[in-house]
Amino acid sequence: MTKIINGKEISAYLKNKIKDEVAALKQNNINVGLAVIMVGNNPASKVYVANKEKACEQLGIISYKYELPEDTTNEQLLELIQKLNSDNNVNGILCQLPLPNHLDEKLIINSINPEKDVDAFHPQNVGKIMIGDYDYLPCTPAGVIEMLNYENIDITSKNCVVIGRSNIVGKPMAMLLLHNNGTVTICHSKTKNLKEICRSADILVAAIGKPRFVTADMVKPGAVVIDVGINRCEDGKLCGDVDFENVQNVASAITPVPGGVGPMTIALLMKNTVTAAKKMNFNK
Ligand code: NAD
Repeated sequence: MTKIINGKEISAYLKNKIKDEVAALKQNNINVGLAVIMVGNNPASKVYVANKEKACEQLGIISYKYELPEDTTNEQLLELIQKLNSDNNVNGILCQLPLPNHLDEKLIINSINPEKDVDAFHPQNVGKIMIGDYDYLPCTPAGVIEMLNYENIDITSKNCVVIGRSNIVGKPMAMLLLHNNGTVTICHSKTKNLKEICRSADILVAAIGKPRFVTADMVKPGAVVIDVGINRCEDGKLCGDVDFENVQNVASAITPVPGGVGPMTIALLMKNTVTAAKKMNFNK
């Protein structure tokens, strides 16, 4: 029987633990606060931001929402981030990506205080992940590791193949699998023999951004398949990067879309925010 890995269930389990931590901090008169900045009207970003706000509310985290118009300048955004950097009520700062094209994403990410960088996109935090000495892990790859742990899927010595090499998902995903003693291969748009490499995977992670890209013939029987993709399919519904219907007949365990990695990402954001609050109050 193929195990359908339930991201809703696992994220609920994690969020319950986080909720208790938030309540315990409150007992010490410490409120946990997350600032969420959104620039423009990207419909997907609006949904993500609304889900993050909802999670904050569920867990007792105070969310400070900043919805800025599409024509916001770099200077205006930097000014807001500087203000939030020095605001003691704000433990975490999240600037929802992608930003409108006229804004300098690198400049904006680099301006966030690394101690408040709960997305772990700042170069300082990225570097710390590389050397395995980190405070924050990027939410999506960390969510995948949490899922594997929850399901008692051991990564040690497994052949792990990650399809995708973005800074947000593919690269940190590969690094976390490596930290967990996997033997890791990263594939990307220029990879040759993709199918053969994927078929060598005990754990296959798809982060491509192409609907149903990973087909059953690319999967080794019994492999664990993690689908990070969130795509809008022809029928308007959400689907992943994996052809779930057919791959589930080959895999030993697989994540669905929706209800897989997505909810984990939000839970890990909440976890990072609580870590930030603890660091700000106890690690001075
Ligand atoms: P991206 O576009 O930055 O990167 C896609 C990667 O796929 C690239 O590195 C590219 O080399 C690779 N790729 C493209 N075509 C390929 C091909 N034909 N063969 C092999 N590799 C190929 O995307 P991203 O930001 O890494 O996101 C990937 C997917 O994950 C998207 O669907 C995105 O919506 C989703 N996502 C989900 C979450 C979540 O919370 N579940 C979070 C972030 C991103």
